[in-house]
Amino acid sequence: MTLIQLPYALDALSPVISAETLSFHHGKHLQAYVNNLNALLPGTPFEHLPLEDIVRQSDGGIFNNAGQILNHNLYFTQFTAPKAANHPTGPLAQAIDQQFGSFETFKAEFEKKGTTLFGSGWVWLSADKDGKLHITQEPNAGNPITRGLTPLLTFDVWEHAYYLDYQNRRPAHLAALWDIIDWDVVASRF
Ligand code: MN
Repeated sequence: MTLIQLPYALDALSPVISAETLSFHHGKHLQAYVNNLNALLPGTPFEHLPLEDIVRQSDGGIFNNAGQILNHNLYFTQFTAPKAANHPTGPLAQAIDQQFGSFETFKAEFEKKGTTLFGSGWVWLSADKDGKLHITQEPNAGNPITRGLTPLLTFDVWEHAYYLDYQNRRPAHLAALWDIIDWDVVASRF
């Protein structure tokens, strides 16, 4: 497994996510999960499997590190430079409106799931085989792919994702993330 390259400069997401946070989050935290997994995989049945299959089939330390790599790969590649009035378009926007009533209602529900997740984990928007959308909380390294869902969008609520910039203010961090979502990337996963 190799560390993904960020598709933007370290300061591109500032002030929503600072260069310092991004540098630690990608260069230290994600790098550590990659190093851990590469140390654990040799000689196991998972050694030559794609990352998604490792996450679907493993448990214990392999699952924790593989899950965190998959989660962060989806997380880091969903961002772009801050935009005012940033919102989805096309079929994904229609599905959000249809299921949640409006984009504003969806955002409020998503933020609430992130704010109320106790401890470390992730909040996810995913789609099932019928195209129905789901917002779920996943503890620790969890990913809805393990229940047959297709992950579309995720907010990392581990403290390492926001503590340098927001300290204990997780809700403020989550509310700010909407400005840097690349909805074209999210829609392409739908
Ligand atoms: Mn993280």
